[in-house]
Amino acid sequence: MSYQAGRHFLQIPGPTNTPLPVLAAIAKPTIDHRGPEFGQLGREVLSDIRSIFKTAQPVIIYPASGTGAWEAALVNTLSPGDKVLMFETGWFSTLWNKIAKRLGIEAEFIEGDWRSGVRADAIEARLAEDKAHTIKAVAVVHNETSTGVTSNIAAVRRAIDNAGHPALLLVDTISSLGSIDFRHDEWGVDVTVGGSQKGLMLPPGLSFNAISEKARAASKKAKLPRSFWDWEDMLAINEKGFFPYTPSTNLLQGLKVAIRMLHEEGLENVFARHDRAAEATRRCVRHWGLDIQCQNPAEYSSSLTAVRLPDGHSADNLRAEILTRFNMSLGNGLGPLADRVFRVGHLGDFHDLMVTGALTGVEMGLRVCGIPHRSGGVEAAMNYLSGNAGPAAQAAE
Ligand code: PLP
Repeated sequence: MSYQAGRHFLQIPGPTNTPLPVLAAIAKPTIDHRGPEFGQLGREVLSDIRSIFKTAQPVIIYPASGTGAWEAALVNTLSPGDKVLMFETGWFSTLWNKIAKRLGIEAEFIEGDWRSGVRADAIEARLAEDKAHTIKAVAVVHNETSTGVTSNIAAVRRAIDNAGHPALLLVDTISSLGSIDFRHDEWGVDVTVGGSQKGLMLPPGLSFNAISEKARAASKKAKLPRSFWDWEDMLAINEKGFFPYTPSTNLLQGLKVAIRMLHEEGLENVFARHDRAAEATRRCVRHWGLDIQCQNPAEYSSSLTAVRLPDGHSADNLRAEILTRFNMSLGNGLGPLADRVFRVGHLGDFHDLMVTGALTGVEMGLRVCGIPHRSGGVEAAMNYLSGNAGPAAQAAE
Protein backbone atom coordinates (compact mmCIF):
# COMPACT_ATOMS: atom_id res chain seq x y z
CA MET A 1 0.00 0.00 0.00
CA SER A 2 1.35 3.45 -0.85
CA TYR A 3 1.83 6.06 1.85
CA GLN A 4 -1.34 7.88 2.90
CA ALA A 5 -0.72 11.36 4.24
CA GLY A 6 -2.16 12.41 7.59
CA ARG A 7 -2.89 10.48 10.74
CA HIS A 8 -4.79 7.23 10.42
CA PHE A 9 -8.10 7.31 12.31
CA LEU A 10 -8.20 4.13 14.40
CA GLN A 11 -11.89 4.05 15.30
CA ILE A 12 -12.26 0.34 15.96
CA PRO A 13 -13.49 -0.58 19.45
CA GLY A 14 -9.97 -1.57 20.47
CA PRO A 15 -7.08 -1.74 20.18
CA THR A 16 -7.27 2.03 20.66
CA ASN A 17 -4.90 4.95 20.11
CA THR A 18 -1.87 4.77 22.37
CA PRO A 19 -1.05 8.24 23.72
CA LEU A 20 2.47 9.58 23.25
CA PRO A 21 3.50 9.47 26.94
CA VAL A 22 2.56 5.77 27.01
CA LEU A 23 4.42 5.09 23.75
CA ALA A 24 7.46 6.92 25.14
CA ALA A 25 7.40 4.78 28.29
CA ILE A 26 7.16 1.59 26.23
CA ALA A 27 10.07 2.77 24.07
CA LYS A 28 12.39 3.09 27.06
CA PRO A 29 15.15 0.48 27.18
CA THR A 30 14.07 -2.94 28.35
CA ILE A 31 15.19 -3.61 31.91
CA ASP A 32 16.24 -6.75 33.80
CA HIS A 33 12.99 -8.37 34.90
CA ARG A 34 14.73 -9.87 37.94
CA GLY A 35 16.54 -6.69 38.96
CA PRO A 36 15.63 -4.10 41.61
CA GLU A 37 14.35 -1.50 39.12
CA PHE A 38 11.80 -3.97 37.80
CA GLY A 39 10.84 -5.03 41.34
CA GLN A 40 9.92 -1.43 42.09
CA LEU A 41 7.95 -1.09 38.81
CA GLY A 42 6.16 -4.41 39.43
CA ARG A 43 5.13 -3.44 42.96
CA GLU A 44 3.84 -0.09 41.72
CA VAL A 45 1.74 -1.36 38.81
CA LEU A 46 0.39 -4.37 40.72
CA SER A 47 -0.75 -2.03 43.47
CA ASP A 48 -1.98 0.87 41.30
CA ILE A 49 -3.94 -1.23 38.81
CA ARG A 50 -6.33 -2.12 41.65
CA SER A 51 -7.75 1.41 41.61
CA ILE A 52 -8.84 0.95 37.99
CA PHE A 53 -10.81 -2.18 38.90
CA LYS A 54 -12.06 -0.40 42.06
CA THR A 55 -10.75 -3.20 44.23
CA ALA A 56 -8.52 -3.59 47.25
CA GLN A 57 -7.92 -7.24 46.29
CA PRO A 58 -5.13 -8.71 44.15
CA VAL A 59 -4.99 -8.21 40.40
CA ILE A 60 -2.99 -10.68 38.32
CA ILE A 61 -1.31 -9.35 35.18
CA TYR A 62 -0.64 -11.81 32.36
CA PRO A 63 1.56 -11.28 29.31
CA ALA A 64 -1.36 -12.33 27.10
CA SER A 65 -4.32 -11.00 25.17
CA GLY A 66 -7.77 -10.93 26.77
CA THR A 67 -8.52 -14.49 25.66
CA GLY A 68 -5.78 -15.69 28.01
CA ALA A 69 -7.41 -13.92 30.94
CA TRP A 70 -10.77 -15.53 30.02
CA GLU A 71 -9.15 -18.94 30.18
CA ALA A 72 -7.33 -18.06 33.41
CA ALA A 73 -10.60 -17.06 35.11
CA LEU A 74 -12.10 -20.45 34.29
CA VAL A 75 -9.17 -22.80 34.94
CA ASN A 76 -8.35 -21.22 38.28
CA THR A 77 -11.86 -21.50 39.72
CA LEU A 78 -13.46 -24.61 38.23
CA SER A 79 -13.09 -28.39 37.94
CA PRO A 80 -13.82 -30.70 34.99
CA GLY A 81 -17.58 -31.15 34.54
CA ASP A 82 -18.52 -28.11 36.66
CA LYS A 83 -21.52 -26.14 35.48
CA VAL A 84 -21.25 -22.48 34.50
CA LEU A 85 -24.17 -20.24 33.62
CA MET A 86 -23.51 -17.77 30.81
CA PHE A 87 -25.66 -15.27 28.95
CA GLU A 88 -25.58 -14.76 25.18
CA THR A 89 -25.06 -11.02 24.73
CA GLY A 90 -23.19 -11.37 21.43
CA TRP A 91 -19.99 -12.60 19.82
CA PHE A 92 -17.69 -12.28 22.83
CA SER A 93 -20.00 -14.06 25.29
CA THR A 94 -20.29 -16.79 22.64
CA LEU A 95 -16.50 -17.13 22.39
CA TRP A 96 -16.13 -17.32 26.18
CA ASN A 97 -18.82 -20.00 26.23
CA LYS A 98 -16.92 -21.99 23.58
CA ILE A 99 -13.70 -21.77 25.55
CA ALA A 100 -15.46 -23.06 28.67
CA LYS A 101 -16.81 -26.04 26.72
CA ARG A 102 -13.38 -26.81 25.25
CA LEU A 103 -11.98 -26.88 28.76
CA GLY A 104 -14.47 -29.57 29.77
CA ILE A 105 -16.83 -27.26 31.65
CA GLU A 106 -20.58 -27.75 31.27
CA ALA A 107 -21.37 -24.26 30.05
CA GLU A 108 -25.06 -23.41 29.94
CA PHE A 109 -25.96 -20.49 27.70
CA ILE A 110 -29.11 -18.42 28.22
CA GLU A 111 -30.21 -17.29 24.78
CA GLY A 112 -30.07 -13.58 24.02
CA ASP A 113 -31.04 -11.40 21.05
CA TRP A 114 -27.68 -9.61 20.46
CA ARG A 115 -29.53 -6.30 20.86
CA SER A 116 -29.81 -6.10 24.63
CA GLY A 117 -27.83 -7.11 27.70
CA VAL A 118 -27.84 -9.80 30.38
CA ARG A 119 -31.32 -10.40 31.77
CA ALA A 120 -30.70 -10.56 35.50
CA ASP A 121 -34.20 -12.00 36.06
CA ALA A 122 -33.36 -14.97 33.82
CA ILE A 123 -30.14 -15.57 35.79
CA GLU A 124 -32.08 -15.39 39.05
CA ALA A 125 -34.77 -17.80 37.82
CA ARG A 126 -32.20 -20.36 36.63
CA LEU A 127 -30.21 -20.16 39.87
CA ALA A 128 -33.36 -20.46 41.96
CA GLU A 129 -34.12 -23.77 40.17
CA ASP A 130 -30.65 -25.05 40.98
CA LYS A 131 -31.43 -26.14 44.52
CA ALA A 132 -28.46 -28.52 44.64
CA HIS A 133 -26.09 -25.68 43.73
CA THR A 134 -24.57 -27.57 40.82
CA ILE A 135 -23.87 -24.26 39.04
CA LYS A 136 -20.47 -23.13 40.24
CA ALA A 137 -20.18 -19.80 38.45
CA VAL A 138 -22.09 -17.18 36.49
CA ALA A 139 -19.95 -15.67 33.72
CA VAL A 140 -21.07 -12.55 31.83
CA VAL A 141 -19.63 -9.83 29.61
CA HIS A 142 -19.99 -6.30 31.00
CA ASN A 143 -19.63 -4.47 27.68
CA GLU A 144 -20.41 -6.63 24.64
CA THR A 145 -18.05 -5.26 22.02
CA SER A 146 -19.87 -6.90 19.11
CA THR A 147 -23.16 -5.09 19.77
CA GLY A 148 -22.38 -2.01 21.87
CA VAL A 149 -24.48 -3.15 24.81
CA THR A 150 -23.47 -2.66 28.45
CA SER A 151 -25.06 -4.97 31.01
CA ASN A 152 -25.95 -4.08 34.57
CA ILE A 153 -23.48 -6.05 36.68
CA ALA A 154 -24.85 -4.83 40.02
CA ALA A 155 -28.22 -6.32 38.94
CA VAL A 156 -26.55 -9.67 38.15
CA ARG A 157 -24.99 -9.63 41.62
CA ARG A 158 -28.42 -8.96 43.16
CA ALA A 159 -29.91 -11.80 41.10
CA ILE A 160 -27.37 -14.25 42.50
CA ASP A 161 -27.99 -13.00 46.04
CA ASN A 162 -31.79 -13.04 45.64
CA ALA A 163 -31.58 -16.67 44.58
CA GLY A 164 -29.46 -17.35 47.69
CA HIS A 165 -26.96 -19.07 45.40
CA PRO A 166 -23.23 -19.47 46.16
CA ALA A 167 -22.07 -19.33 42.50
CA LEU A 168 -19.02 -17.23 41.75
CA LEU A 169 -19.51 -14.15 39.56
CA LEU A 170 -17.02 -13.86 36.67
CA VAL A 171 -17.17 -10.68 34.56
CA ASP A 172 -15.42 -9.72 31.32
CA THR A 173 -14.60 -5.98 31.32
CA ILE A 174 -12.25 -6.05 28.34
CA SER A 175 -14.02 -3.20 26.53
CA SER A 176 -15.32 -1.35 29.59
CA LEU A 177 -12.36 -1.15 31.97
CA GLY A 178 -11.11 2.44 32.10
CA SER A 179 -14.01 3.61 29.89
CA ILE A 180 -17.24 2.71 31.69
CA ASP A 181 -17.72 2.61 35.45
CA PHE A 182 -16.95 -0.79 36.90
CA ARG A 183 -16.68 -1.71 40.59
CA HIS A 184 -15.12 -5.08 41.35
CA ASP A 185 -15.50 -4.89 45.14
CA GLU A 186 -18.75 -2.98 45.48
CA TRP A 187 -20.55 -5.19 42.95
CA GLY A 188 -19.25 -8.36 44.58
CA VAL A 189 -17.49 -9.66 41.49
CA ASP A 190 -15.26 -12.69 42.09
CA VAL A 191 -13.11 -12.61 38.98
CA THR A 192 -12.89 -9.59 36.68
CA VAL A 193 -11.24 -10.16 33.30
CA GLY A 194 -9.57 -7.14 31.67
CA GLY A 195 -7.29 -6.30 28.77
CA SER A 196 -4.73 -3.59 28.03
CA GLN A 197 -5.71 -2.52 24.53
CA LYS A 198 -8.93 -0.57 25.03
CA GLY A 199 -9.72 1.85 27.87
CA LEU A 200 -6.22 1.42 29.30
CA MET A 201 -4.82 2.93 26.08
CA LEU A 202 -1.97 0.42 25.76
CA PRO A 203 -1.15 -1.81 22.83
CA PRO A 204 -2.51 -5.38 23.07
CA GLY A 205 -0.49 -7.82 25.14
CA LEU A 206 -1.47 -7.52 28.81
CA SER A 207 -4.55 -8.99 30.42
CA PHE A 208 -5.86 -9.16 33.95
CA ASN A 209 -7.73 -11.19 36.54
CA ALA A 210 -8.91 -9.22 39.58
CA ILE A 211 -9.78 -11.83 42.19
CA SER A 212 -11.91 -11.90 45.33
CA GLU A 213 -11.10 -13.89 48.45
CA LYS A 214 -13.94 -16.25 47.56
CA ALA A 215 -12.44 -16.85 44.10
CA ARG A 216 -9.03 -17.48 45.61
CA ALA A 217 -10.49 -19.98 48.06
CA ALA A 218 -12.29 -21.70 45.15
CA SER A 219 -9.02 -21.84 43.21
CA LYS A 220 -7.43 -23.95 45.96
CA LYS A 221 -10.02 -26.68 45.26
CA ALA A 222 -10.36 -26.19 41.49
CA LYS A 223 -9.09 -29.18 39.52
CA LEU A 224 -8.87 -27.96 35.91
CA PRO A 225 -5.26 -28.37 34.76
CA ARG A 226 -3.34 -25.10 34.72
CA SER A 227 0.27 -24.05 34.74
CA PHE A 228 0.94 -20.77 32.95
CA TRP A 229 -2.33 -19.31 34.29
CA ASP A 230 -1.95 -20.46 37.90
CA TRP A 231 -2.83 -17.66 40.32
CA GLU A 232 -0.87 -19.00 43.27
CA ASP A 233 2.44 -19.08 41.38
CA MET A 234 1.81 -15.46 40.42
CA LEU A 235 0.62 -14.20 43.78
CA ALA A 236 3.54 -15.73 45.64
CA ILE A 237 6.17 -13.87 43.64
CA ASN A 238 4.05 -10.77 42.86
CA GLU A 239 4.44 -9.79 46.51
CA LYS A 240 7.97 -8.68 45.72
CA GLY A 241 6.94 -7.14 42.39
CA PHE A 242 8.23 -10.04 40.28
CA PHE A 243 6.63 -12.61 37.97
CA PRO A 244 7.08 -16.41 37.70
CA TYR A 245 8.11 -16.02 34.05
CA THR A 246 9.31 -13.20 31.83
CA PRO A 247 6.71 -10.43 32.03
CA SER A 248 6.00 -7.85 29.31
CA THR A 249 8.49 -5.42 30.83
CA ASN A 250 7.94 -2.61 28.35
CA LEU A 251 4.16 -2.84 28.38
CA LEU A 252 4.30 -2.63 32.17
CA GLN A 253 6.37 0.55 31.83
CA GLY A 254 3.55 1.87 29.65
CA LEU A 255 0.89 0.65 32.08
CA LYS A 256 2.41 2.68 34.89
CA VAL A 257 2.04 5.86 32.80
CA ALA A 258 -1.45 4.95 31.54
CA ILE A 259 -2.73 4.48 35.09
CA ARG A 260 -1.21 7.82 36.10
CA MET A 261 -2.90 9.54 33.12
CA LEU A 262 -6.30 8.05 33.96
CA HIS A 263 -5.98 9.34 37.52
CA GLU A 264 -4.73 12.75 36.42
CA GLU A 265 -7.89 13.16 34.37
CA GLY A 266 -9.93 11.50 37.12
CA LEU A 267 -11.75 8.21 36.48
CA GLU A 268 -15.18 9.83 36.78
CA ASN A 269 -14.16 12.45 34.18
CA VAL A 270 -12.87 9.69 31.92
CA PHE A 271 -16.25 7.92 32.13
CA ALA A 272 -18.11 11.21 31.50
CA ARG A 273 -15.95 11.86 28.43
CA HIS A 274 -16.88 8.43 27.06
CA ASP A 275 -20.59 9.00 27.82
CA ARG A 276 -20.43 12.29 25.93
CA ALA A 277 -18.75 10.81 22.85
CA ALA A 278 -21.28 7.99 22.81
CA GLU A 279 -24.24 10.37 23.08
CA ALA A 280 -22.83 12.56 20.29
CA THR A 281 -22.39 9.47 18.11
CA ARG A 282 -25.93 8.23 18.73
CA ARG A 283 -27.43 11.66 17.94
CA CYS A 284 -25.51 11.61 14.69
CA VAL A 285 -26.63 8.08 13.81
CA ARG A 286 -30.26 8.85 14.63
CA HIS A 287 -30.11 11.95 12.46
CA TRP A 288 -28.84 9.83 9.58
CA GLY A 289 -31.91 7.67 10.14
CA LEU A 290 -29.83 4.55 10.74
CA ASP A 291 -30.58 1.98 13.42
CA ILE A 292 -28.44 1.49 16.53
CA GLN A 293 -27.82 -2.20 17.25
CA CYS A 294 -28.47 -1.76 21.00
CA GLN A 295 -32.23 -1.50 21.47
CA ASN A 296 -32.35 -0.61 25.13
CA PRO A 297 -31.27 2.99 25.90
CA ALA A 298 -30.42 2.02 29.49
CA GLU A 299 -27.81 -0.36 28.06
CA TYR A 300 -26.18 1.87 25.44
CA SER A 301 -22.43 1.38 25.51
CA SER A 302 -20.24 4.40 26.11
CA SER A 303 -17.20 2.79 24.48
CA LEU A 304 -18.63 1.91 21.07
CA THR A 305 -21.74 2.17 18.92
CA ALA A 306 -22.74 -0.57 16.49
CA VAL A 307 -24.76 0.80 13.57
CA ARG A 308 -27.02 -1.29 11.33
CA LEU A 309 -27.22 -0.65 7.63
CA PRO A 310 -30.48 -0.86 5.65
CA ASP A 311 -31.09 -4.23 3.97
CA GLY A 312 -29.25 -4.63 0.72
CA HIS A 313 -26.28 -2.48 1.76
CA SER A 314 -22.90 -3.89 2.72
CA ALA A 315 -21.27 -2.63 5.91
CA ASP A 316 -17.98 -4.23 4.86
CA ASN A 317 -18.02 -2.36 1.57
CA LEU A 318 -18.71 0.89 3.44
CA ARG A 319 -15.78 0.22 5.79
CA ALA A 320 -13.50 -0.64 2.88
CA GLU A 321 -14.39 2.60 1.05
CA ILE A 322 -13.87 4.65 4.20
CA LEU A 323 -10.48 3.02 4.78
CA THR A 324 -9.30 3.61 1.21
CA ARG A 325 -10.63 7.12 0.76
CA PHE A 326 -10.46 8.60 4.23
CA ASN A 327 -7.81 6.52 6.01
CA MET A 328 -10.09 5.44 8.86
CA SER A 329 -10.62 1.97 10.33
CA LEU A 330 -14.05 1.07 11.70
CA GLY A 331 -14.98 -2.16 13.50
CA ASN A 332 -16.60 -4.93 11.45
CA GLY A 333 -19.75 -6.88 12.23
CA LEU A 334 -19.03 -10.17 13.96
CA GLY A 335 -20.78 -13.55 13.61
CA PRO A 336 -24.37 -13.09 12.43
CA LEU A 337 -23.79 -9.32 12.27
CA ALA A 338 -21.04 -9.70 9.63
CA ASP A 339 -21.58 -7.17 6.84
CA ARG A 340 -24.80 -5.98 8.57
CA VAL A 341 -23.26 -3.52 11.04
CA PHE A 342 -20.20 -1.36 11.41
CA ARG A 343 -18.89 -0.38 14.81
CA VAL A 344 -17.55 3.03 15.78
CA GLY A 345 -15.11 2.85 18.68
CA HIS A 346 -15.17 5.95 20.90
CA LEU A 347 -12.93 4.80 23.70
CA GLY A 348 -9.47 5.37 25.04
CA ASP A 349 -7.38 8.42 24.21
CA PHE A 350 -9.64 10.76 22.22
CA HIS A 351 -11.42 14.09 22.38
CA ASP A 352 -14.42 15.84 20.80
CA LEU A 353 -12.69 16.67 17.51
CA MET A 354 -11.65 13.06 17.06
CA VAL A 355 -15.28 12.01 17.58
CA THR A 356 -16.62 14.53 15.05
CA GLY A 357 -13.76 13.69 12.68
CA ALA A 358 -14.66 10.01 12.81
CA LEU A 359 -18.36 10.75 12.28
CA THR A 360 -17.50 13.00 9.34
CA GLY A 361 -15.60 10.10 7.78
CA VAL A 362 -18.64 7.86 8.20
CA GLU A 363 -21.03 10.44 6.76
CA MET A 364 -18.79 10.91 3.72
CA GLY A 365 -18.61 7.13 3.36
CA LEU A 366 -22.41 6.88 3.38
CA ARG A 367 -22.50 9.41 0.53
CA VAL A 368 -19.80 7.66 -1.46
CA CYS A 369 -21.56 4.30 -1.13
CA GLY A 370 -25.02 5.66 -1.90
CA ILE A 371 -26.43 4.43 1.40
CA PRO A 372 -29.72 6.22 2.11
CA HIS A 373 -29.38 8.64 5.03
CA ARG A 374 -30.34 12.15 6.05
CA SER A 375 -27.27 14.36 5.78
CA GLY A 376 -26.28 16.60 8.69
CA GLY A 377 -25.70 13.91 11.32
CA VAL A 378 -22.29 15.36 12.15
CA GLU A 379 -23.95 18.69 12.80
CA ALA A 380 -26.28 17.04 15.31
CA ALA A 381 -23.17 15.66 17.06
CA MET A 382 -21.49 19.08 16.92
CA ASN A 383 -24.53 20.78 18.39
CA TYR A 384 -24.52 18.35 21.28
CA LEU A 385 -20.78 18.59 21.89
CA SER A 386 -20.76 22.38 21.69
CA GLY A 387 -23.71 22.61 24.04
CA ASN A 388 -25.73 24.43 21.42
CA ALA A 389 -29.24 23.16 21.84
CA GLY A 390 -30.90 26.35 20.54
CA PRO A 391 -33.60 26.46 17.83
CA ALA A 392 -31.12 26.29 14.93
CA ALA A 393 -29.52 23.23 16.46
CA GLN A 394 -32.88 21.59 17.08
CA ALA A 395 -33.97 22.27 13.53
CA ALA A 396 -30.82 20.56 12.30
CA GLU A 397 -31.57 17.38 14.28
N1 PLP B 1 -13.94 -9.95 25.48
C1 PLP B 1 -14.31 -8.80 24.90
C2 PLP B 1 -15.51 -8.08 25.42
C3 PLP B 1 -13.58 -8.31 23.81
O1 PLP B 1 -13.95 -7.15 23.23
C4 PLP B 1 -12.46 -9.03 23.35
C5 PLP B 1 -11.68 -8.53 22.21
O2 PLP B 1 -12.01 -7.57 21.57
C6 PLP B 1 -12.12 -10.22 23.99
C7 PLP B 1 -12.87 -10.64 25.05
C8 PLP B 1 -10.96 -11.04 23.53
O3 PLP B 1 -9.79 -10.38 23.83
P1 PLP B 1 -8.46 -10.55 22.95
O4 PLP B 1 -8.83 -10.35 21.53
O5 PLP B 1 -7.54 -9.50 23.52
O6 PLP B 1 -7.95 -11.93 23.20
